[in-house]
Amino acid sequence: MSESPVQFVEYSKAIQPRSVEGRFRNIKFYILILAYAVFFLLPWLRWERAVGPDQALIFDLASLRFYIFDFVIHPQDIYWLSILLFFAAVFLFFITTLAGRVFCGYFCFQTLWTDAYRWIEYKIQGDRVARLRLDKQSWNKEKIQKKGLTHFFWLFLSFWTALTFVLYWGDAFELISDFFTGKAPAAAYITTLILTATTYLAAGFARDAICRHVCPYSRFQSAMFDENTLIVSYDYNRGEGKKGRAKPIKTLKSLEERKSNGIGDCVDCGFCVQVCPMGIDIREGLQLDCIHCALCIDACDNIMEKFGWDKGLIKYTSENNLQGKKNKYLNVRSVGYGIAALIAIGLLYISITGSALLNVSVSQTRQPLFVTMSDGKIQNSYHFNFINKTMKPAILDLSLEGLDDAEISLGKIEKISVRADKALRLFVKVIRRPNKPNEPRNISFRFKVTPIKGDLTEPVIIESQFITH
Ligand code: SF4
Ligand code: SF4
Repeated sequence: MSESPVQFVEYSKAIQPRSVEGRFRNIKFYILILAYAVFFLLPWLRWERAVGPDQALIFDLASLRFYIFDFVIHPQDIYWLSILLFFAAVFLFFITTLAGRVFCGYFCFQTLWTDAYRWIEYKIQGDRVARLRLDKQSWNKEKIQKKGLTHFFWLFLSFWTALTFVLYWGDAFELISDFFTGKAPAAAYITTLILTATTYLAAGFARDAICRHVCPYSRFQSAMFDENTLIVSYDYNRGEGKKGRAKPIKTLKSLEERKSNGIGDCVDCGFCVQVCPMGIDIREGLQLDCIHCALCIDACDNIMEKFGWDKGLIKYTSENNLQGKKNKYLNVRSVGYGIAALIAIGLLYISITGSALLNVSVSQTRQPLFVTMSDGKIQNSYHFNFINKTMKPAILDLSLEGLDDAEISLGKIEKISVRADKALRLFVKVIRRPNKPNEPRNISFRFKVTPIKGDLTEPVIIESQFITH
């Protein structure tokens, strides 16, 4: 039977991890600072462009362009996104095969935001024991103040996260002023409201339940693990010895005494369990719920250091290493995913660098297919669409190849001029001499579009047809 979201919240509330210091905690902290700095500051960064918005990164809904510094993605380039997603997926598989769930433990939004929410909770309510005590006590002034302040900051961070996301979809300065004066589009308010609510619920309440019950990644990750994968593991042989773990009572204080009595190095302090954000005991072996955040490594290393014993009772290792065998990082699985990732990134590179800066599409007018003019000449009409992807205006010349005695009429236009990073629709007529006897009905020919001014250099050839009768 599936669990309801209420059960998730109740379940998550029970986990009150203890804070811990150590190298993995520091790495997680630096990644969090970097991720937050990038996410929250990027919409405010200005970037000079000849054409387009002056925001460094913007999904410009008005012009349907995605601007990333000097790189502009047009709607017709959207297939790049599918290549990028494929690359992201296989690269994630590759990393998971080598180093387990590092993405979950260090980079996932859910982990990063939950970490920040826990930090707020820790700063206001104190560490694990103080929080557990606060949870148990009745709703007195202290509890109302501390819980109220925690939820205020959670809501503020949720709101700022949601608003920042919205700022990527328009000019950040304009949008924020419109937002607070009630002039922003309804979609901006609705998106902010939905994202505020979901961030608040996911990072403040659901937390580990999202990893456990909602995220599909934890379900299929086990398919990518093998005996060579680096995972956070408890060194069972060292920790349990022959007779199991034991607390350091007087007679078993030194390592030698413990060893001679067959006792392992684990002092059963429970610190590794208390710091675990997923509430699991790593000593029970590899578990589906473990997000490989490595905080239990920090916790145990601190304990080992305190006793002056070797660190690494819990460490990043592989099943092979634990059994004293050599690790084979280059195996069928890792090499396969690595090659797939390289192919995907190569394809993306080729497709971006080889992408035409001038897109031309032509469709022939069907109604009527041809017109016989008063002087007997035959006229066909075509709809052109030019897209100039450069940041300079382009002047283009249009000519015919493979159609004798014919000329192009642009109507009132003298030259084809396409503004920088803009499209131009044009109605073009091709007029040919009167038909000769036995003239074929369809004549294949080519339009040649030659740039004569601007940043474009390569001509574009388009196959088309001329209908004579
Ligand atoms: S068992 Fe260790 S690595 Fe796994 S989630 Fe808990 S603290 Fe993180
Ligand atoms: S932190 Fe280390 S010593 Fe303490 S219970 Fe966990 S594994 Fe044993």
